[in-house]
Amino acid sequence: MKAEIIIIGDEILYGLTLDTNSAFIAEKLGELGIEISYKTAIGDEVKKIVEAIHSAQRRVDLVIVTGGLGPTSDDLTVKAIAKAFKKNLIFHPEILKKIEARFKTRGIEMPKINQNQALIPQGAKALENQLGSAPGILIEEDKKIFIALPGVPKEMKAMLEQEVIPLLKTKVGKTKIVHRKLRTTGIIESKLYEKIQDLLKDLKEIKVAFLPSYLGVDLRLTANLKTSSKSKDVITQLEDKIKERIGGFIYSYDEQTLEEVVGRILKENKRTLSVAESCTGGLVAAKITNISGSSDYFERGVVSYSNQAKMEILGVPKELLDKFGAVSQEVALAMAQGVRKISKTDLGLSVTGIAGPTGGTPEKPVGLIYIALADVNKGWVEKFIFGQDRMINRERTAQAALNIVRLYFLGKYK
Ligand code: AMP
Ligand code: MG
Repeated sequence: MKAEIIIIGDEILYGLTLDTNSAFIAEKLGELGIEISYKTAIGDEVKKIVEAIHSAQRRVDLVIVTGGLGPTSDDLTVKAIAKAFKKNLIFHPEILKKIEARFKTRGIEMPKINQNQALIPQGAKALENQLGSAPGILIEEDKKIFIALPGVPKEMKAMLEQEVIPLLKTKVGKTKIVHRKLRTTGIIESKLYEKIQDLLKDLKEIKVAFLPSYLGVDLRLTANLKTSSKSKDVITQLEDKIKERIGGFIYSYDEQTLEEVVGRILKENKRTLSVAESCTGGLVAAKITNISGSSDYFERGVVSYSNQAKMEILGVPKELLDKFGAVSQEVALAMAQGVRKISKTDLGLSVTGIAGPTGGTPEKPVGLIYIALADVNKGWVEKFIFGQDRMINRERTAQAALNIVRLYFLGKYK
């Protein structure tokens, strides 16, 4: 099956909104073994949308459109679909009921223009939108599938996963393609490559992609053999070999984030954590509390930005600050021990560093970070030198801090 993704919206063309929808859709279709032949982006203009739908229908079996399903006058996709398929728009009272009910639960009176969203081209099926008011549209004609989804990424994703993927699975049959992601952190791409280079030589049946980001390097393994079980077998074999080499750097095997993994580990081990942050300004705590259920293991986060706060809240001795400075091994450790003590948690985690771009000195350059972890008995400090960019330094520091908690439970710190 070949597919085209059509992205609709002036804001995408002008570069005001980054098109993340097509990337998400392409990835999900790829997992089903559907080949993406084209991606098209067009503005909010009926004539162009109609043209794009027509040319897509000529060249592929599956067309997925996102954007322009809203109720306002710049949302023209439904009109264009009706025109492209030469259908009338039919009013569906049951869809209107659902939209009205959504507004009611939010305690807002439904504006009249939302009635438009109950109009669907004749013969089309409405796809339910759990998160917003605009329904999606499905048209199956002449063995071709046409799908329109909302532009709002969260709504699009939910609809794709809940409605579209299950439908497509029935059409494409069993997929033979198997993907696996090994997510690593704490090791740079080239080093990772060096460690597993010889395993990747002469690989005929598996593709391996290195996907680096500030948070780490993901390894993506893809196999497309005669059957999915054969694909799975070769992937598992390679995965086992890779694990032998770099096991400690791998924190998850699918889409799980490090904060999810760390949360799960804390929960399983029935341990609690508190955090004291300087240069990350609360980012570590924010990441930890992004995870639902984190109150089971996370007690508090302190943003102790000034020396005063480090002394007053965490009990960091003034002498340490005077002698070694706020960005030092000694202060990092005192912060971790301090926050652990005041919050009575099993573990205390701290970060202090120079996020930049200002504030660096020859002895303490921008990007210098200390991260400390303390338990009841002992404390450990790690030193990192990241780069010049403030935001990236903060992200990397938060990731490295979470990773230290993970490594603690792997027995790295004793
Ligand atoms: P629309 O469905 O065109 O009314 O878009 C609703 C919201 O979703 C707007 O804030 C858009 O900026 C956003 N949006 C639309 N298309 C995309 C896309 N391809 N990627 C990311 N966001 C999008
Ligand atoms: Mg729009």
